[in-house]
Amino acid sequence: MDPLAKRRLSDITFVIDKDLNVKSGNRSFLRLIHKTNFNVNLSYIFEDSDIKNFKFFLANFDDSFPTRSFLASIKPFENYISCIFTITRAGEYFNVIIEELSYSRQLLDRALMESRELTALMQNFDSYYFLFDGKKYTLKNTKDLNTIFDGPQEDFKIYITNTFKINISNEDTQAQLNAMFENIENFNAGKYYTLLQIDKKILTIHTLKTSTRHSSLIVASINLHKENEPVMNTYSESRDGLTGLYNKKAITELAIKKINEEKSPCSLIILDADKFKECNDSYGHIFGDRVLVSIANCINDAIKGRGIAGRIGGDEFLILLDVNNEDDIHQIARNIRTGIQWSITNVDPESVVTCSMGIAKFPVNAQNYEDLFELADKSLYIAKYRGRNTYILYSPELHDKILIENKQIDDRVTSGKFFFDCVNSELEILNKIQKLDSSKKEQVYEILNLMISYLQISKITIYDKDFKLLYLAGIDEVNSREDYVRYTQNYFKFFNEYNFLHLDNTNVLNSIDGERYDLYRSTNISSTIEVLTKNKNCENLLICYDLYKPARTFKKDKITFALLVARKLSEIL
Ligand code: GH3
Ligand code: MG
Repeated sequence: MDPLAKRRLSDITFVIDKDLNVKSGNRSFLRLIHKTNFNVNLSYIFEDSDIKNFKFFLANFDDSFPTRSFLASIKPFENYISCIFTITRAGEYFNVIIEELSYSRQLLDRALMESRELTALMQNFDSYYFLFDGKKYTLKNTKDLNTIFDGPQEDFKIYITNTFKINISNEDTQAQLNAMFENIENFNAGKYYTLLQIDKKILTIHTLKTSTRHSSLIVASINLHKENEPVMNTYSESRDGLTGLYNKKAITELAIKKINEEKSPCSLIILDADKFKECNDSYGHIFGDRVLVSIANCINDAIKGRGIAGRIGGDEFLILLDVNNEDDIHQIARNIRTGIQWSITNVDPESVVTCSMGIAKFPVNAQNYEDLFELADKSLYIAKYRGRNTYILYSPELHDKILIENKQIDDRVTSGKFFFDCVNSELEILNKIQKLDSSKKEQVYEILNLMISYLQISKITIYDKDFKLLYLAGIDEVNSREDYVRYTQNYFKFFNEYNFLHLDNTNVLNSIDGERYDLYRSTNISSTIEVLTKNKNCENLLICYDLYKPARTFKKDKITFALLVARKLSEIL
């Protein structure tokens, strides 16, 4: 019996609630599609238009038809695949069976092989994998998952020798190959075996999983390395145990080889998670670890065969891209940045982890790895200084600026001037508020504009008790809240007991409040501090400090000052 044939589509069954959260069942398939290890919500794998429909369908499930079908498109690996869900109701939950799925065989094979290690392996190596069921061998290419060979041992042996151009006229090679085939049934899961070591080639097998249901089934990947390549011949030596990316030693060696020896055009990104200590402190190390894994997955997703990545420190990653043109670099860096921002929000809506990156190009910016690394590192430093959640692509013009800025920062911090500057502008604003004549609008605008540059935000809006716009200072995009505020009863539901709302990243609302999330998306607001105060007639005023994309983390002392100014202003306006 072909074990593949036994893995029927109806094996993919699970239980969901009406909000599409998967409660139990065979989640590995969904996780695979979602590519994380976290709780699965079907929204993440559906095409957008299907999410609403599916929720509506469940909310209106008609019990007079105990079994009903729903057709939806899911998007694994950016392919759209339509599938039919057969749904039965069980109390407040629903049983789901996936009945039809185009490309099902490929996806199921992938599902079987689902593992974090494997994803990393598949994306980073030009490798093949084979399935062995006791009699038959199936060889597949990891890039497109196409079956290249399907048949008995003798033919497989020939196929392998041809595919990997191995010379088997040599007795030694024959013996090695035979030993492999004799022992294959004894291979253990998760182990590394050297298959062949011949002609300066090393063929390694990494056994990824043996199926529990089919004890003889082995899924293994085959890699081919030239002996003189700096890649370690076992997967584990070159990998970071947590994320499956390369470890520091391996990625550094590969980068040095590419840059110093081969002199291939490329670019280097150093990525560091923002405020990662806080993340560990608030949510614990285990959560922190998951975040690191999620960051690694986002990096892999974004570089997709256009480079390799490794973890070089706690929350620090090195990415070596095969490209060095700015359009590609911008695109990849943007995808990494937004990917991380979004995926962590999906893990925990209240936690927003972001990253900063410094990027330098070879050979444009530097002539060797060491210099290139230093430039990327300097750019990272500037990205952090400029508020994090951003990337800086090194340019020679920037170089002087970076040096000067670095020196200025150092000088100002050591001399205390850094803090003095902040205090100075705070004092200036408070003085102006004290002398403010509220009948003179230009005086109000002067203060608001000072606040905009102090907080480094895009605009400030102030609304009266009827939510009519009183003041708008800064970059004028769509004036946002007026209508929304007026027609939404619960505008203030996210405000805390001190009557203000602070969101470093409005994306967090995505899974909490779709309507409000839309408000910020449509008005381009990524970070906001909104304060509800009372004016001198004891009427409400809403004062909003907004930042357009990209989002940024507001520093605590700046938030405190923003609240103070809001209260002071409202006493006068
Ligand atoms: P910044 O925005 O300036 O980068 O702030 P940060 O808090 O991220 O500071 P930094 O990068 O210096 O801190 C890295 C932290 O990562 C320190 C350490 O507690 C944590 N860390 C290092 N290795 C691991 C790990 O393997 N797992 C977890 N969960 N945390 C780690
Ligand atoms: Mg960090």
